[in-house]
Amino acid sequence: MAPRSAPAVQPTRTTDLPTQRLDIQSIRAQIPALAQLVNGKPLVYLDSGATSLKPQIVIDALVDYYGGCCANVHRGVHTLSQRATTLLEQARETVQAYIGAPELHECIFVRGVTEGINLVANTWAQRHIGPGDEILITAMEHHSNIVPWQMLCERVGATLKVAPFDTRGVLDMDAFAALLSSRTKLVAAVQVSNALGTINPVVEMVQLAHAVGAKVLLDGAQAVPHGPVNVAALGCDFYVFSGHKVFAPTGIGVLWGRRALLEAGGPWHGGGDMIRRVTFEKSTYAELPALLEAGTPHIAGAIGLGAALRWQSALGLDLIAAHEADLLAYGTRLLEEIDGVRLIGTSPNKAGVLGFVLDGTIGAHPSDVGMLLDQQGVAVRTGHHCAEPVMDFFGIPGTVRASLAVYNNRGDLDALAAGVQKAIRLLS
Ligand code: PLP
Repeated sequence: MAPRSAPAVQPTRTTDLPTQRLDIQSIRAQIPALAQLVNGKPLVYLDSGATSLKPQIVIDALVDYYGGCCANVHRGVHTLSQRATTLLEQARETVQAYIGAPELHECIFVRGVTEGINLVANTWAQRHIGPGDEILITAMEHHSNIVPWQMLCERVGATLKVAPFDTRGVLDMDAFAALLSSRTKLVAAVQVSNALGTINPVVEMVQLAHAVGAKVLLDGAQAVPHGPVNVAALGCDFYVFSGHKVFAPTGIGVLWGRRALLEAGGPWHGGGDMIRRVTFEKSTYAELPALLEAGTPHIAGAIGLGAALRWQSALGLDLIAAHEADLLAYGTRLLEEIDGVRLIGTSPNKAGVLGFVLDGTIGAHPSDVGMLLDQQGVAVRTGHHCAEPVMDFFGIPGTVRASLAVYNNRGDLDALAAGVQKAIRLLS
């Protein structure tokens, strides 16, 4: 698979859309979880922002590993161990090609975005950020891109700065630029907001940050499932994503970082695999990626991630982005036509997230709406989506969030709209 050069912003204008279309029926047929009734109704899965459903090919990769070459990796001389090692390292190659990473050994397997960010906070950032320095995030970050930086700031005496967004959920780029200074050592920003759907202008943000000498970490959790991402084109210094949101198992994800920065961060977890030599007097450390992958990795997860990324790439990342842009426009129209629905997150540059509240329903919490939708077989997420500051900004306890993936179709959004209308009738 050749590295792609396309930048990470999905086409949302109709003129950008490829003419070829995906065969959604055939894609749906590859997702076993879709073939079930929930509360007597065909499942309508609109919670892929929380976790995606898995195609059979990914499930098969897990079964093949556990049922076949189930062995530990890297130090085994026996055949099964060597097979498992080959599969794990092939998955790393898939990741490298998928995100356009310049070097294979810069791709570190982690548990997910949360662990990847904590790894950077406890290695490179811990060593290179000190008293008086600043870390700049945005006001639309997931908690996993807030709390590790707050903890780091407390440890090292640095200050956390926050760039605001407007009532549509669009980042205020003037404020962002004004908050950058020679004190800024790191910008940590979400590429696509899980609460608002906003696609941030990350290339411009990286350029502005680099101009003041700051490094940039991008949270790609909600970007990778929806279209092409290329870290070289983005120009960032660290990039993180979670496998489970991109059709892969839970408990596996990727941290990509520039080799020099990962090496300068040094080790984090100590233990097996990350060492060169251990004595009681002193231990010396292995090279990347082992340096940052102490202990037995999530072998099956990494193999499943490789299978998932190959499956998604074979569908066509630009086609996925175009399909989801169509669904987003369709779903937005349907929800806007319903009296009492207020969309939260209306950026003109948006990915497949439809967050809303119901204004006319007396005392109804988003979770009431979620439960009524569930009775219709429609799975959505309700609450603050681990982005409490976003909810505070809008003065709401949470939203109902329908989030899209490639296997959704317009019928799913029709079911959502019908379910919301029923919920309004019942709650008003
Ligand atoms: N960042 C964003 C934007 C997310 O949507 C999520 C999960 O919802 C995370 C980070 C955390 O991902 P994980 O729980 O897989 O570590």
